Order: sequence, then structure tokens, then C-alpha cells
Amino acid sequence: MRTVYVNGNYVPEDEAKVSVFDRGFLFADGIYEVASVLGGKLIDFPAHIARLHRSAGELGMRIDVTDEDLLAIHRELVSRNNVEEGVVYLQMTRGAIDRDFLFDTDKLTPTLVLFTQSRPLIDTAVAKNGMKIVSIPDLRWGRCDIKTVQLLYPSLGKMEAKARGADDAWMVRDGVVTEGTSNNAFIVTKNGAIVTRPLSHAILPGITRAALMAYSEANGTSIEEREFTIEEAKDAAEAFISSASVFVGPVISIDGVELSGGKPGPVTLGLRKTYIEESLKRAL
Ligand code: PLP
Repeated sequence: MRTVYVNGNYVPEDEAKVSVFDRGFLFADGIYEVASVLGGKLIDFPAHIARLHRSAGELGMRIDVTDEDLLAIHRELVSRNNVEEGVVYLQMTRGAIDRDFLFDTDKLTPTLVLFTQSRPLIDTAVAKNGMKIVSIPDLRWGRCDIKTVQLLYPSLGKMEAKARGADDAWMVRDGVVTEGTSNNAFIVTKNGAIVTRPLSHAILPGITRAALMAYSEANGTSIEEREFTIEEAKDAAEAFISSASVFVGPVISIDGVELSGGKPGPVTLGLRKTYIEESLKRAL
């Protein structure tokens, strides 16, 4: 049985509980991070913690633990659960108090929960065969740059993608692609340019996206930040997604239109290799 961290305690997963009055449960008043584990080590950890602070800051949520404590908790869970490859999920909510739209952050003790999921991340069906994407309208709220647990629309979007015979959905707002349900979206144009939309309140500033941009820049291939339509994506040479748990995931079709001959493209696979190699060098 897995060991889960809940508010200072390491407990068996069936004893891991939070209050029904928790604002994360009642109002989705919570933030989260997912850090991947390769070879028992944490990938991009400092960047995930920096984004946690940013999310908390944007919502006026207190973080009562130090970054050193957070690293120690991550490592303890990885070790207790023997995670070689997988993810550590961290969720922090504003805390539990009788239900009211109004709240006083100073009177609330944040809830902190972490658990692990062991699963292959490198040798996966997506990496080998790629993924099929469908487009859906982006009906999320206006602050998608904050990593909140308000994930109902992305979850329903992924269900719709599955019902339509695909693996995931890319969301479209104001005529341009924002991002995937749980990942950032990229295309490789027929001229070889790697393109992803710029950061704004409309998308999550992906940690994998930022790392990929930095590694590419260092290799002399910069990633262009500009908006693109779903039509441009369908006409691209390649497309791919980035996220902490998939790294770089090849896209082989969009709304039924095949890309790169229906198999993962060479630029995408090159970026995936670079990302894995470079992030392993920095793993904690
Ligand atoms: N965009 C959304 C909406 C996400 O939920 C995620 C990850 O969960 C990402 C992008 C990718 O971010 P990261 O690379 O930090 O995992």
C-alpha cells in the first residue's frame, strides 16, 4: 500500500483523509504541482516549487512549509514508495472552515497533501506511437496561468477526445490554439520552425515548456513564441505536446488530419531525447 503525506504525517493511503469543509473540496480553492521522477530522482523540481509559490501568490494563499521541507517530503515519499519512474502529486488548499464564499486566509491553515504514482514515463505507447488530438473550444476561466485544481473542463475535454477516438484535446479560444487539456501545444512548420503560443493568462506556464525552450536555445534552435490556429497546426510538418509527466509527446493527427505520415516526427523525437538527457543531468 502506498504511503501518502497529509498535513505533516506519512500515512497508509486508506488512512489519508481531509475535512469535508476543506475549501479545496467545496470551492476548488487549491493549487497543485506534478513533478516527475526518473531513476528515483526529481525532474525540474526547483521550477515546480517556484510555480507553486507563484500560484499561491496570485491567490493570496499562504505556504506554511519551506522549500527545503517540500524537497524532503518529495524525497521521503519517493523512497518510501520505491518510485523509480513516475510522478509526485502535490496539492495545497487554503484549508478547512465552515462553508462561506468569504474567507480570512489568516484564520485558515493550508491543507497539504502529496502522493506518488509509479508508472513508466520513458518507454510509453505515446512516445512510440504518438497521440491523436481533437480540437474543442476553450471554455475555461480567465486565469489559466494559475495551476488550480479546477480541472473539470479539461477532464470533460479529455473524455470527449476519448469518445471521439482520440487521445487528447487542444483547446481553441479567439481562433487560436491555447493549449492541451493538461499540456502545452507546439507545432513544427514545414519551414522547420518550432512554434508555441506566448504565455498569458490564457495558458499555464509549463515547466517542461520553459525547460525545452532553454535547452533548444542552448543548442542554437530557438522556439518561436507566436499564436497559431488549428488550421495551421493541421498543415504543420509535426506537432507535439509538453508536460511534466509526458515530457515531449508526439502528435500524429489533429481532427482526423494526419501529420508527419501518422508517426512521431524527427524534430519532436529529437526534442524529447534532448529534454530527457538534459533534465536527468539536473535531477535532484
Ligand atoms: N497546460 C496545462 C493546462 C496543464 O495542466 C499542464 C500540466 O499539468 C501543462 C500545460 C504542462 O505543464 P508542465 O510542463 O509544468 O507539466
